[in-house]
Amino acid sequence: MDSYSVYISVEGKLNETVRIAPSLSIQEIRSVFCAAADVSYETRDVVLKLYRPDGILVPIGPHIPPNSPETRYILQVKQDKYLPGASSEVKPVIDALDAVSALLGDALKLKDKVDKLKRHAHAGGFDGAVGTASVESAAHASKNIPAIRRVQQVGLRLEETVPKPDFSDEVKENLKHPTFDIWQWQEHEMAYLLEHMFVEFGLIELYKIDETKMRRFLQCVRCSYNNNPFHNFRHCFCVTQMMYGLLHVTGVHEKLTPLEKLVLLVACIGHDLDHPGFNNAYQINASTELSIIYNDISPLENHHAAVLFTILKSDETNILSNLSNSEYKEARKQIINCILATDMARHGELMAKFKGYAEAGFNYEDPAQRTLLIQMIVKCADISNEVRPQHVSEPWVDSLLEEFFTQSDREKAEGLPWAPFMDRQKVTKASAQVGFIGFVMIPLFELVSKVLPNMEEPVIQPIRRALDYYKSMTG
Ligand SMILES: [Zn+2]
Repeated sequence: MDSYSVYISVEGKLNETVRIAPSLSIQEIRSVFCAAADVSYETRDVVLKLYRPDGILVPIGPHIPPNSPETRYILQVKQDKYLPGASSEVKPVIDALDAVSALLGDALKLKDKVDKLKRHAHAGGFDGAVGTASVESAAHASKNIPAIRRVQQVGLRLEETVPKPDFSDEVKENLKHPTFDIWQWQEHEMAYLLEHMFVEFGLIELYKIDETKMRRFLQCVRCSYNNNPFHNFRHCFCVTQMMYGLLHVTGVHEKLTPLEKLVLLVACIGHDLDHPGFNNAYQINASTELSIIYNDISPLENHHAAVLFTILKSDETNILSNLSNSEYKEARKQIINCILATDMARHGELMAKFKGYAEAGFNYEDPAQRTLLIQMIVKCADISNEVRPQHVSEPWVDSLLEEFFTQSDREKAEGLPWAPFMDRQKVTKASAQVGFIGFVMIPLFELVSKVLPNMEEPVIQPIRRALDYYKSMTG
């Protein structure tokens, strides 16, 4: 398909025409929309939202449906709510002081004043929210909880579902392998492929999951992922598909209970919900709302799980509504544990514990060992891009580095500490991958392969090939 025009109205005021080519990446298209809205593409605390005239949200990406000047989409530009931002009254003052501070060079005293005012503004904004909540109704107060606020935004704009595509037997078979090409599919198709995994495991029938609820659930999940370069809905799909692939190539799905398979699917699908594109270190160092709410303990992972269970709390999207009370309780506990296990800060702890089980002879009869096994499967799936063929995996490296560089640029600008592995001055694609594959991926997958069979050829060999490939690039 050739490029085509999309007609938009910025905030319902300024008319613009944007050229879309399906070959453009999501980032390139986002940058065009940023230009149309007169905001810098580097301004990562801005969220772009595109609506049809009837108020339905249109995903910004290479498959925006064509429209006409009569049916212009409305482009809205919003401040990201999870990044620390000064309140609107204080912002111009801070900006002016920042400008003066820069002019004076090392006028440290003024800089100190700016920083104090910024801290005051951030803290004030958050305290204010809590103060308001205490005097207003409980319903209103719940809007101040980020996870609930996020899902409420999505809930208002659920669009009609697109009819289910007819997946061939070949596609359904390929879906069970790590070689599956995840780039071929549009978002609604990925949602239906996820639905197929529940069908294939017999979970729809066993847990009496209503088809409409399942589709609304997946749609709500899709809309609750952000358009980050890396942590987006396609990453969610990749992680779930790799988990599904790992279960099939190792045959471990035959050893797992239906509830464990349900836990794995729902946990993978929800594991990065509403990821803001800035990691835990940033959340903690910048004292964001999430770090305050979760006391610096896995703020993002806690938030992902909270968004997931907010979606599941609504009857319309609760695919777990026909589980018995005890099944639901167990599923919830395990899903939360799987999502919390994806915090890489806990990597060493989980590796050591699993190593103990593996070396003593893994015991499937022990519930604690089974629980850790499914957490390790989710962890593997979460960092599994290099298991995929190179043409599938390589674009992810660029996306992740883009997200990292944006974060470290922001950290430098805000005077926060930044990690060398995110620094565009220090990192190359090859050096990043050699370190990550060699020190994180291979030890993890080799350890898990001590318990799960048949991983060598379909899973571990591709990782080793990727390591050789990136080593050859470093020269
Ligand atoms: Zn993830």
